[in-house]
Amino acid sequence: MSKIIKSDFLVIGSGIAGLSYALKVAEYGKVHVISKKDAGETNTSFAQGGIASVSKKNDSVEKHIQDTLIAGAGLCHKDAVEYGLSEAPERIKDLIGWGVKFTKDDKGVYDLAKEGGHSKHRILHAADLTGAEIQRALLSKAKANPNIEIFEHHLAIDLITEHHVLGNLQSAFNICFGAYILCTKENCVVPFQANYTILATGGASKVFLHSTNPDIATGDGVAMAYRAGVRIANMEFVQFHPTSLYNPGKRSFLISEALRGFGGRLVNGEGERFMPKYDKRAELAPRDIVARGIDAEMKKRNEDCVFLDMRHLNSDEVKSRFPNIAKWCQQSIDKDISKDLIPVVPAAHYFCGGIMTSLTGQTSMQNLFAIGEAAHTGLHGANRLASNSLMEALAFSHNAALKFIRKRPRNFGTVIIPEWDESGIVDEKEWVLTRHNQKEIQNIMWDYVGIVRSKKQLNRAKRRIQLIYQEVEDYYKKSKVSGELVELRNLSAIAFLIITSALRRNESRGLHYMTDFPNKSDKFLKDTII
Ligand SMILES: Cc1cc2nc3c(=O)[nH]c(=O)nc-3n(C[C@H](O)[C@H](O)[C@H](O)COP(=O)(O)OP(=O)(O)OC[C@H]3O[C@@H](n4cnc5c(N)ncnc54)[C@H](O)[C@@H]3O)c2cc1C
Repeated sequence: MSKIIKSDFLVIGSGIAGLSYALKVAEYGKVHVISKKDAGETNTSFAQGGIASVSKKNDSVEKHIQDTLIAGAGLCHKDAVEYGLSEAPERIKDLIGWGVKFTKDDKGVYDLAKEGGHSKHRILHAADLTGAEIQRALLSKAKANPNIEIFEHHLAIDLITEHHVLGNLQSAFNICFGAYILCTKENCVVPFQANYTILATGGASKVFLHSTNPDIATGDGVAMAYRAGVRIANMEFVQFHPTSLYNPGKRSFLISEALRGFGGRLVNGEGERFMPKYDKRAELAPRDIVARGIDAEMKKRNEDCVFLDMRHLNSDEVKSRFPNIAKWCQQSIDKDISKDLIPVVPAAHYFCGGIMTSLTGQTSMQNLFAIGEAAHTGLHGANRLASNSLMEALAFSHNAALKFIRKRPRNFGTVIIPEWDESGIVDEKEWVLTRHNQKEIQNIMWDYVGIVRSKKQLNRAKRRIQLIYQEVEDYYKKSKVSGELVELRNLSAIAFLIITSALRRNESRGLHYMTDFPNKSDKFLKDTII
């Protein structure tokens, strides 16, 4: 019998959502934080631009709410927006208290940047490495806390629900009791039994061929929740970042929106500035509009990329404001961001949809919570405003922790968690074929379910993904579990969820653009729930 690890809080994910939650509840019980790679390998670590929070007198929370509602194109949940953005200033104090050092100006005042869709300068940042600074501070706090234990290279496979357990359940149902976790270094599966299970597993952008995300972003939490029958919402709303460095065959790298906020312009292969043609806000229009503008310009001119032009700005200021991006461009493509044109393309970046939650992170399953990018709180609606996601993760993790502090979870009696079942497993050697499936999913999603969609393309994608989905499920059932196989299974589920959701929305709204339904329709002024 494999050992069972018991926790009060099982937090799956070590980004801003998981760690900030862990730090808040640690004084109330034993917290186990699970991370499928090194604990610092998260989307959080990659965030460059910053975190949005009102902090100047000429700004107000009402203006921030208004900007968020405009970007969200009618689908924001007003209560979530109001809660999240009103919390922001207090939650920034938490970050500073945990040791996050935001950039200050010469007078010692926090420097505030402006990004697309924001009417005011309100983005706190740590140069252009904001996420790395947040990750560093939270991780060092969590490691120093005796009530928090971090399990690196441990990958959650599936949730443990009442279908798995034996014992007296007092006729309760739809409950989460923890998760089966694969220790990828020792290749064994351990059941983690928990009073509270928190999915803080981040996004799913790796389902697309081009993505700004690190490899961990395979949508595991959403896929696990979906398999357990938990409600999932708005998976069609995928944000494509307009400007990822164009460097074919190499790891993708984000060219932050903050460069456009600083005055950078987008030009085509002829050197012509084109964004004013598409929107009067030009380069600072919301991301969906800029991404579609670039996509249209590339298609019209049959070019592989467009260019970001910073050459008209003060060279020293550009380099000192964006040291990390300057270094990356110099080293990877031998370009000086203040003197050369930087080639850029759109890439999948952020999921507005995810596991449906209340304002306290509660999912549709008892004792199961979701926070951060894996969750759908309703704050972003049909399109996320830049730098609102770190803030959302922080604010809603706080509220999920408060929920526990105010009201303890229900006890469902004694249960026996069975060990991981490997009966009927044959060690199949079709791995090459399975690997090939992952590339195929990413290509299908990029070609047919990307920035611009149509019914015909979505149906074509659906037929292909259904085949792969079935093939992967069959292979999974008879194979020894591995990290790569679990991720492939999750990617195929995510692809299926996106396509199914997109096919239900016969309109164009926010990030979801259909050539055959180019306008918004009031009939679709609602979430897509699976
Ligand atoms: C390049 C880039 C730039 C960005 N810039 C900004 C910005 O400037 N401002 C902003 O607000 N947002 C930005 N974002 C978005 C923001 O970074 C993310 O939305 C946010 O960090 C998500 O935090 P999270 O805690 O939900 O997930 P993450 O930080 O992604 O953490 C997910 C965690 O879950 C773990 N995990 C996943 N699956 C499993 C599993 N099966 N088992 C165990 N562990 C698992 C991972 O190992 C990881 O520890 C950016 C994103 C990217 C990629």
